[in-house]
Amino acid sequence: MASEFDLIARHFTPATLPPEAGVALGVGDDCALLAPRPGQRLAVSVDTSVAEVHFPAAAPAEAVGHRALAVSLSDLAAVGAETRWCLMALSMAEPDEAWLADFARGFHALCAATGTALVGGDVTGGELAIGVTVMGEVPPELALTRSGASAGELIAVTGALGGGAGGLALWQRGERDLAHPLLARYLRPQPRLAAGLALRGLATAAIDISDGLLADLEHVLEASGVGARLEPSALPLAEGLVAALGDDAACRAALAGGDDYELLVTLPAARLTTARQRLADVGLALSVIGEVNEAPGIAGVDASSVRGWQHFGARTPRRRP
Ligand SMILES: [Mg+2]
Repeated sequence: MASEFDLIARHFTPATLPPEAGVALGVGDDCALLAPRPGQRLAVSVDTSVAEVHFPAAAPAEAVGHRALAVSLSDLAAVGAETRWCLMALSMAEPDEAWLADFARGFHALCAATGTALVGGDVTGGELAIGVTVMGEVPPELALTRSGASAGELIAVTGALGGGAGGLALWQRGERDLAHPLLARYLRPQPRLAAGLALRGLATAAIDISDGLLADLEHVLEASGVGARLEPSALPLAEGLVAALGDDAACRAALAGGDDYELLVTLPAARLTTARQRLADVGLALSVIGEVNEAPGIAGVDASSVRGWQHFGARTPRRRP
């Protein structure tokens, strides 16, 4: 049986990194030695993806590798950080070389696409789970946080919503074609790193939508000490969502489905045009979906129907893909 060191050497040692990667010492020693650039804050986040909780165990390994890194990078996007480095810890019942090779292919491809250097790894026996720590940089005055929203500002989201829940629903119905736009959104989410950078200096608060729009908006409202009114008819629904789920379920998926990995931001109306231009430059739409106000809570949505979805719809299947 291959040792942990063999597996890491074979699958998780990236190609030689250029000097600008800021890696003085990478995979293979007790620690990596990294060189953050002067004047930057280090932005650090970790997420664990557990089979049958966060992704289906039968999902293609390449997609699992992509997804495990993508969900962590999404948190860097939410603070407006530039991604730089990551660490990956994987546990699996038995070393499966073919699965690991596919997993590593998906992981390394997203590393390359985003400019993230893998600087350390750990492979161990256990339930199939992947923990990914990401590190990025952001100038201190430009970091986007959850606490900066003010009454009177707009609430806006990047891209489209509901695709994560829609893709999960399709997977549970037996759809396996990763080219399907909803399944792609669920299993191969694209972290909105470019959007986070584009919204530096424009957004007053930001969060990535991992748990569902309402749940994540609530985090922003609580941290900022404000409330909100949403306009559900303004929600940008993912391509194919209404066709797959029907109108009502599509709207609930967009409000509470989770796993969308879009950014939710607040910003003054006077900055909207500039923000939309910058996002258009990176190929994304920015949709205004409501307004920040002083009344606590979220107005404009039928909370009872959404709560039902959260309990019986989105939450439960997320744990049983
Ligand atoms: Mg987050």
